[in-house]
Amino acid sequence: MAAERSMARSSAADVVVVGGGVAGLCAAIAAHDAGAQTVLLEASALLGGTASWSGGAIWIPMNHCMARAGRPDSRERALEYMQACAQGESPSELLNTYLDEGPGVMDFLEESTPLQFEVGTMPDYYDQYPGAVHAAGESRSIAPAIFDTNRLGAQRALLRRSPYGTIPFSFEEFSRFQAILHPERIDFELMTRRLQEGYVGWGEALSAGLLAAVLERHIDVRINSRVLGLLGGRAVDGVHVQADEGAYDLEARRGVILCTGGFEWDEALVAEQFGVHWTPSTVETNRGDGWRMAERVGARLANRGVCWGWPTYLIPGEERSAGLPLVRTTLVERGLPHSIIVDAHADRFVDESAPYHRILKVLLERDDQGFRHLPAWQIFDQQFRDKYAFGPVAPGQPAPPWMRRFDSLAALASGLGIPGEALARTVGQFNEAARQGRDARFGRGESAYARFFADPDNHPNPSLGTLATPPFYAVEVLPSTIGTCAGPEIDTRGRVQRPSGEVIPGLYAAGNVAAAISGPAYFGPGGTIGPAMVFGVLAGRAAANGGQDG
Ligand SMILES: Cc1cc2nc3c(=O)[nH]c(=O)nc-3n(C[C@H](O)[C@H](O)[C@H](O)COP(=O)(O)OP(=O)(O)OC[C@H]3O[C@@H](n4cnc5c(N)ncnc54)[C@H](O)[C@@H]3O)c2cc1C
Repeated sequence: MAAERSMARSSAADVVVVGGGVAGLCAAIAAHDAGAQTVLLEASALLGGTASWSGGAIWIPMNHCMARAGRPDSRERALEYMQACAQGESPSELLNTYLDEGPGVMDFLEESTPLQFEVGTMPDYYDQYPGAVHAAGESRSIAPAIFDTNRLGAQRALLRRSPYGTIPFSFEEFSRFQAILHPERIDFELMTRRLQEGYVGWGEALSAGLLAAVLERHIDVRINSRVLGLLGGRAVDGVHVQADEGAYDLEARRGVILCTGGFEWDEALVAEQFGVHWTPSTVETNRGDGWRMAERVGARLANRGVCWGWPTYLIPGEERSAGLPLVRTTLVERGLPHSIIVDAHADRFVDESAPYHRILKVLLERDDQGFRHLPAWQIFDQQFRDKYAFGPVAPGQPAPPWMRRFDSLAALASGLGIPGEALARTVGQFNEAARQGRDARFGRGESAYARFFADPDNHPNPSLGTLATPPFYAVEVLPSTIGTCAGPEIDTRGRVQRPSGEVIPGLYAAGNVAAAISGPAYFGPGGTIGPAMVFGVLAGRAAANGGQDG
């Protein structure tokens, strides 16, 4: 274990939390409330991490919002669903802990922070599995109510903001506007007023509420402070910090909690585990430090090669910050009628209306030649363009150059360098399926997830419509991640384990830095933030109590 104690500044805390994303903020709040003097170290200048860019959905079976709405969940069915999703690749004690502790953690956060939760609107992602919640209007996810950032006072500048823009509405309001399919139906007057007043929603509201709770507790938050080493012998008892003002060691009397996010910006780890070049959709300070520190102290590293991900596209020149492209997902567009996704053989290869995590997995499938389905393109026709937005391009607006436009399918095939005859065959088969309303090949438009995003006014299948009206359009589909979820294996209290199954005393992990409790699966809306929050709180309490339950 790295044990060099050095440098100018040295200090101590009971609990040191490394990383100020949603997992780290929750861990710091819980450690503080369990009586520990806590320091939160964040590599960037901002708090909130990737959650600030997120929808803010939190997947918590049996949550209090479901009960309040008169639609209580069942533990048995939730476990059945989680086990079916995880396919035996997730330790059942972690799933059970998640079920048992999740609702209580959310109650704790609602009671002890300014956050308020509302019931979500989306179904579980895999309604073919037993125990899924997917009836219209039912959801295991909750989401933050809108949040008034004035509550942060001058420290509002610490809040990481979304490069996608602020949505000052709750999920419920957003659904009421039917804004997923009809962004033009948003109440723009209300939106402008709320923005002027300082309200945020979705992931920004989640980060802001947690940040407010951290600030109200006067927790020692140190930004621009990157942790690059763990200190100690058999037990971890401190960290080595690379701060703007210089490097120093910080003692952690009771424990260190790694909450450094995934390693998606570490090219070497990504090459080793995914073999892909991608632009991650996450904060660029997720550079694999957590993985490497855990590895150096002998942690058992699990869930290799697994990440949360989605299909995306880039608009040339569009940046989220200097030099870094803004990654846009085709969350809605890919499952709408009059569009398909094809590979270099001009063949469809996936149910385009499936959950994004599933599509990413298929996009990353390999054979002897490399990635089987890359490059891939989403192809759509003028019917699509007349009815639906594609990203920022509303129906009726002229196609920008990045949305490549062709007068015929043959010209499109030749322009993309894919076989024209095969494309004609693929489109012919798809059009037949669209007319019948049934995609026998992939079952597109049949799941609750697909129907949530598809066009209810399109018949007979809300996701199927012909590609028949020129011109035709093509946008390249690129794999991207919203966070890797391979890392040190944790136990039911967030304690990091050795290959022998013993815990490493003093070391905890939560969020995307740890091996996901769901193994390869993404349970539903909020399937990453939910576990990050629950195990963040559990780890915070356990660390404050020297490794025991809080
Ligand atoms: C557009 C988008 C929408 C999403 N929507 C949802 C959603 O609705 N629901 C859901 O469940 N998930 C969603 N996700 C994914 C979700 O946001 C992430 O999985 C989650 O926020 C990860 O939280 P985390 O705390 O583990 O890591 P992060 O939020 O990535 O935070 C890690 C933090 O650690 C810091 N850090 C890294 N290394 C160090 C170091 N060495 N020292 C100190 N600090 C360090 C980083 O700077 C960062 O602030 C979405 C993601 C995106 C991009």
